[in-house]
Amino acid sequence: MASQGQPVCPPAAPVRPANCIVCGEARTDGITVCGAFICTACEREMVMTDVSDARYAFFVERLRQIWAPR
Ligand SMILES: [Zn+2]
Repeated sequence: MASQGQPVCPPAAPVRPANCIVCGEARTDGITVCGAFICTACEREMVMTDVSDARYAFFVERLRQIWAPR
């Protein structure tokens, strides 16, 4: 038995930071939607932002860049 008690997280594969399309920061934590990266902070903020909030329109505008046909 090498270790007991505390759960040990398996070593994660090296993840290259990606630039979040919302905040523009290079981060490793987040999700990739249609090839576009959204960091965890922005994803959570989007979920929590009300539709009537001015920031929501900002998020939608950002996301439109992903989904808009080119
Ligand atoms: Zn972000």
